[in-house]
Amino acid sequence: MPHTPHADPAVTVLAGPTSVGKSTLSGHIRTHYPQVHFSVSATTRPARPGEVNGEDYWFIDPQEFDRLVQEDALLEWATVHGRHRYGTLRSTVKDALAAGKRVLLEIDLQGARQVRRSMPEAQFVFLAPPSWEDLISRLNGRGTESPEEQQRRLQTARVELAAESEFDVTIINDDVARAAAELVELVCADQQV
Ligand code: 5GP
Repeated sequence: MPHTPHADPAVTVLAGPTSVGKSTLSGHIRTHYPQVHFSVSATTRPARPGEVNGEDYWFIDPQEFDRLVQEDALLEWATVHGRHRYGTLRSTVKDALAAGKRVLLEIDLQGARQVRRSMPEAQFVFLAPPSWEDLISRLNGRGTESPEEQQRRLQTARVELAAESEFDVTIINDDVARAAAELVELVCADQQV
């Protein structure tokens, strides 16, 4: 059973290397636990086929992203995989917390470290693959990135995997149903669901 005895479950940060299954797990929470506020990030990355603005991300141009940074409208932000910028909108997190909702952020390691500084009481969850080989085959299987982009993502993944000990708890994604149940338990801790 995962346990974060010293953390406040009001905000849960879910991080982990590329293609480990973060979106699948957070998607499970979004579908089955609508009382949890999932923070939709802003990004300068172009939408992939099938992605919906406002649901998967807020897809914005670099100028708009610059404006959000200048206005201090982002709780955290980072350039991920050396390319596009991604950030969490401060106002939507604040509004959800004010409405008494639990908040789930699905962000990268750099972003998680920034949230750790500004919200040390949040709970930090690391989603890990069962093995390095498993991660590679997931990334290949996804087929959404070019070979160059895959290499870039694997380089970042090595760095991210080495940072696991910075997190309060690790969930191993060897079985989606079990991993989702563990995440639900953490996000909805002490709550009637
Ligand atoms: P993708 O391009 O595959 O959707 O996401 C690439 C990476 O960006 C993932 O590791 C994802 O967790 C991270 N990411 C998504 N949204 C945010 C955000 O708001 N802030 C940060 N720091 N990383 C994010």
